[in-house]
Amino acid sequence: MTAQTPAGGPLPPMTDGPHDPEHDPRASYALEPEYVAALTRRIVASSGRTAEVFSPLNGQPIAHVPQSTPADVAEAFARARRAQESWARTPLAERAAMLLRLHDLVLDRQEEILDLIVWESGKARKHAFDEPGHIALTARYYGRTAEQHLGTRRVPGIVPALTRVETHHVPKGVVGIISPWNYPFTMALCDGLPALLAGNAVVAKPDAQTMLSALFGAQLLEEAGLPADLWQVVAGPGPELGPALVDGADYVCFTGSTATGRIIAQQCAERLIGCSLELGGKNPILVLRDADIEKAAEGAVRGSFSNAGQLCVSMERMYVADQVYDRFVDRFVARTEAMSLGASLGWGVDMGSLISQQQLDAVTAHVDDAVAKGARVRTGGRARPDLGPYFYEPTILEGVTPEMTCFGHETFGPVIALYRFHEESEAVARANDGEYGLNAAIYSQDGNRARALARRIKCGTVNINEAFSATFGSIAAPMGGMRQSGMGRRQGAEGVLRFTETQSVGTQRLIRIAPMLGMSGELYAKVMTANLRLLKKLGRP
Ligand code: NAD
Repeated sequence: MTAQTPAGGPLPPMTDGPHDPEHDPRASYALEPEYVAALTRRIVASSGRTAEVFSPLNGQPIAHVPQSTPADVAEAFARARRAQESWARTPLAERAAMLLRLHDLVLDRQEEILDLIVWESGKARKHAFDEPGHIALTARYYGRTAEQHLGTRRVPGIVPALTRVETHHVPKGVVGIISPWNYPFTMALCDGLPALLAGNAVVAKPDAQTMLSALFGAQLLEEAGLPADLWQVVAGPGPELGPALVDGADYVCFTGSTATGRIIAQQCAERLIGCSLELGGKNPILVLRDADIEKAAEGAVRGSFSNAGQLCVSMERMYVADQVYDRFVDRFVARTEAMSLGASLGWGVDMGSLISQQQLDAVTAHVDDAVAKGARVRTGGRARPDLGPYFYEPTILEGVTPEMTCFGHETFGPVIALYRFHEESEAVARANDGEYGLNAAIYSQDGNRARALARRIKCGTVNINEAFSATFGSIAAPMGGMRQSGMGRRQGAEGVLRFTETQSVGTQRLIRIAPMLGMSGELYAKVMTANLRLLKKLGRP
């Protein structure tokens, strides 16, 4: 297991001595300060304060990020609101064309995007690629389905032929987006694309650690032709800016922890505005007795250790059929032990760093607690400071029991617990245990049986013979959590309609919907009753 520099050679060792550019990466900036300043200039910030951000790869400083105040958030909303008025009148086809241009730009500029993501998050480049990939898929899907989702529709009126009714999707106005650090490019952008398509403006508050990836997304939107001021970015601690963001918004999109999601939901309820919440999970993976063992082991590695497990839809509990348990676990452990870990901007590593000391502490605490209470470590189970400040090995545990923290609480790290099951109904019941309901996976060679089982699992997405990408990468498929894993859905029709108010316009012709020509109320009721019976007979909805 080796650490590599962007060029592929070893990174300079971390030292605690004086900062010396030759020996200590913390003595020089990871990115050109002018390049960083060109990005951070987009932040609406007047406090004069900055927050210094360091790379989890090697501790090198990346940026001094200007900090916004609640008044700056209000100013961002005022600018966005002015810009939104004309955007809402821009033809839908033009708004869709902007998304399709963004699609091309994201693919063309992916190397720059990947560098930013890796510097800010420390993840492996191959996991970073999922982000521009997801934005390209999202931009294409919404760019191509704009009319299908947002076009004006004729619907049946109360009096056939004489009542004409149309429904329109009116933009909510300005959408507030609060996003986390784990997928800093796509989580900052992906909800905003359908919001823009629907005619809204956006005020985004990305996580403090990963502002540059999010700001680069804002720059690409502008290069794709998004009018100035429609996408505002503010920076600062969530608890400090959150209330101002909810106060200014007509709708809020939040991705992050369940605890913060509850706070946002309460604040939105107070203002009677809608919100969608994409929250945590404790996602189960089921390996049935007829699973292709090699395929399941490969999928389990990706499902558990992508982005070092800091992925809302990644797997943390695995239920394996008794008949294949030993064979499967041997292959899963062997594949895990063959992974290369490293701090690198290159493609050569299978898993990168955790993002912060806080994440490293949380993962270490979960594993140490489990081991102290009797869990067995099949592989991994320790930090790797030799690779970078926050590295932790991909870890497989057995013998995890309900009194251990990692049994039911989200670890959000590269740790998975294995359990045997005897009957499939028992596996389903255990998968449905707990408070979450985000994502599940089933490995089986019998697609019909697996799909039938999927219907019994209380999760917003279920992937068969894949861990999460089959649903998450299919943008027509709504994605989100049941139970404590969230409210609302991103992607698909729900993913764009949440940013609109539906307006119905009815036009009545020739007759009124009331007694006419001296007709009594009683006679009118009789005529209407006969009509109602007839329309049902004719099959009218
Ligand atoms: P977090 O809730 O602490 O932070 C997420 C965002 O919310 C950050 O931008 C943060 O600054 C902001 N924030 C924090 N407190 C706030 C407050 N009081 N008011 C307003 N904003 C506030 O979450 P995190 O620990 O950074 O992210 C990891 C969590 O996110 C995990 O639980 C993970 O499962 C979840 N997640 C879910 C999805 C999904 O799609 N369901 C995707 C990614 C991450």
